[in-house]
Amino acid sequence: MRYSNMFLPTVREVPSDADVISHQLMIRSGLIRKLTSGVYTYLPVGYRVIRKFEQIVREEMNRAGAQEVFMPTVQPAELWQESGRWVHYGKELLRFRDRHDRECCLGPTHEEVITDLVRNEIKTYRQLPRNLYQIQTKFRDEIRPRFGVMRCREFGMKDAYSFDIDSEAADLSYQKMFDAYNRIFARCGLKFRPVEADSGAIGGSFSHEFLVVADTGEDGMVYCESCSYAANLEKAEIARPAEPAPVASAKAVEEVHTPDVRTIEEVCAFLNVTPREVVKTLIYTADGNAVAVLIRGDHEVNEIKVKNLLGCDSLEMAMEDMIVEVANAPRGFVGAVGIRCPVYADYSLIGMADFVMGANKEDHHLRNVNMGRDFSVKAFADLRTIRDEDPCPRCGKTLHFARGIEVGHVFKLGLKYSKAMRAVYLDRNGKEQFMVMGCYGIGIGRTVAATIEQNNDTAGIVWPMPLAPYQVIVTPTNVNDGALAKAAEKLYDSWIARGIEAILDDRDERAGVKFMDADLIGIPLRVTVGPKRLAEGKVEVRFRRTGEVHVLPLDEAVEFVVRAVQDGMKAPE
Ligand code: ATP
Ligand code: MG
Repeated sequence: MRYSNMFLPTVREVPSDADVISHQLMIRSGLIRKLTSGVYTYLPVGYRVIRKFEQIVREEMNRAGAQEVFMPTVQPAELWQESGRWVHYGKELLRFRDRHDRECCLGPTHEEVITDLVRNEIKTYRQLPRNLYQIQTKFRDEIRPRFGVMRCREFGMKDAYSFDIDSEAADLSYQKMFDAYNRIFARCGLKFRPVEADSGAIGGSFSHEFLVVADTGEDGMVYCESCSYAANLEKAEIARPAEPAPVASAKAVEEVHTPDVRTIEEVCAFLNVTPREVVKTLIYTADGNAVAVLIRGDHEVNEIKVKNLLGCDSLEMAMEDMIVEVANAPRGFVGAVGIRCPVYADYSLIGMADFVMGANKEDHHLRNVNMGRDFSVKAFADLRTIRDEDPCPRCGKTLHFARGIEVGHVFKLGLKYSKAMRAVYLDRNGKEQFMVMGCYGIGIGRTVAATIEQNNDTAGIVWPMPLAPYQVIVTPTNVNDGALAKAAEKLYDSWIARGIEAILDDRDERAGVKFMDADLIGIPLRVTVGPKRLAEGKVEVRFRRTGEVHVLPLDEAVEFVVRAVQDGMKAPE
């Protein structure tokens, strides 16, 4: 492509509304433009990168035995009512009515549509397993779109869905996708980690997220270098402590007047204790019923863990009136002694004795409270969020903490949709069985943005070869110099003939301006055709990533670039 013909509006200034580097660089290098909140246009160079990534995804999906389909964006409400998600999905689902007053939505994901398709077409075990995927536009009305295409409202996703005869077969399908995802992100040259992720309260299911390591990432992760444990921060398990000998306290419970002392800090200061000697009692409503969750004063409740323990659909902090109803006391003075709801305690309470907790009486706390003696616990469980000092739940060694961007998610769905929507097949004995499903997503634009987040410097983007929109840019330092222009043109033609994706920067601009644009756009190889070198029959080949320069005779330069491109494209084993 000749630069002078390209629609490639680069920007020198950093856009004021872009917080993360990938968003800034995608605007500055002319990859995207915003239409409205969370809705973006990909310009030609940006769309080339998208197509390259899609192609990698497609190749690896096909290699794993999945088949490409293309489903509609508009989906009828009936299917979502069948799965139950018309009610549960919330405001991210954009709903509307057509001219016949039929309720519809824009697909944020396609479990309903694919399950409907498969239940209508697949009848026997002989037609299973199947894995169908698409690369298609999703709409999610995100409450706070941000970071450009990283969290937007309209975005491209690869979504795959597997259907199997039983749980073991579904595990195999899952493993194939897991392996394919590892290959996809490795081929992009990304530093990433698959981590165990929350899969909600659906029994027997599991899931992994693929996180690209980045400080700007919205997700936290922990990983262990001694064993292979890695998990999303919200999912990371905390091992049950060894059962200590039961504590028999001789101290009697003591009620203390603590006027207006509510928070852990206030309680500690007032009673001269540390947070480790205090137990917090939090009241939640789980599907409308009150439950109490006990946690040590220096810990945080992990609501996802509570929700999974209870297996409820909704979990919210209780309102004041419900708190008073079960505890006879306002928030800040609630405790477990005499409370009128089930009590669940975090593992860290095991072995605690003579602790402080709310007295269930306004302006009062209790000292020397003991479990078993003063109140009973329905269950002990892992209910808190992991912290720096917690050891690996598998091997007990030190855990590492990092942040990441979720680019992919593999999920064993089990029977969730096949039961709700009756996706059944006839087994060998002619007996009806539910299909066991899995679903697997990759954010296309988000992965491209995450790649930039990991591959940039002060001059701009540094594309890994497999995603680079173009592989080489040929830059004559002065297009008005006939010899330079001719030599550049010839080089450009030979690369095009060899199947290399090249730009010829034929603009009548200063060399400095051209170099700045080439660096900003992040083309992996730049070939400079200047008067001094050309007089010796040579050109300069420069690697964008390392700044390494090779001065080569023209014909050698052609081969050198072809080889550098091939090397850069190599897929991992
Ligand atoms: P998140 O927790 O980031 O909202 P999610 O759990 O809702 O993600 P999935 O439903 O698993 O995501 O979607 C599959 C993939 O689609 C994600 O891994 C991510 O790469 C991408 N994705 C999800 N939401 C967005 C969005 N708003 N903008 C861009 N990509 C997205
Ligand atoms: Mg989401």
